[in-house]
Amino acid sequence: MTNWRGIPREEIPWYPTIDGEKCIGCRECLNICKNDVFVFDEARQKSTVAHPCNCVVECRTCARLCPSDAITFPDAAEFATLIKQKLAKKEQ
Ligand code: SF4
Ligand code: SF4
Repeated sequence: MTNWRGIPREEIPWYPTIDGEKCIGCRECLNICKNDVFVFDEARQKSTVAHPCNCVVECRTCARLCPSDAITFPDAAEFATLIKQKLAKKEQ
């Protein structure tokens, strides 16, 4: 996806963040996500976010399914405010 609601995808800060301390390397996120967002770091035995812009905006599936709550996303209210600001700016 190159645009979302008319906003360039790279300007939208929606993607997973992995807490390396919490990640237990189970690979569930890699199995769940079909969008090539994650790669597995074999040396660290942890998942990493390799292609953040491939993440589907407002999807949180991997965070819900991660068994150790290692994946987080932006706060929903703050994200909504940011998108409103971007859309307003676009209409000016
Ligand atoms: S699902 Fe969670 S614990 Fe498992 S590899 Fe992904 S981030 Fe790490
Ligand atoms: S939120 Fe959805 S699209 Fe984004 S990385 Fe997780 S499973 Fe993939």
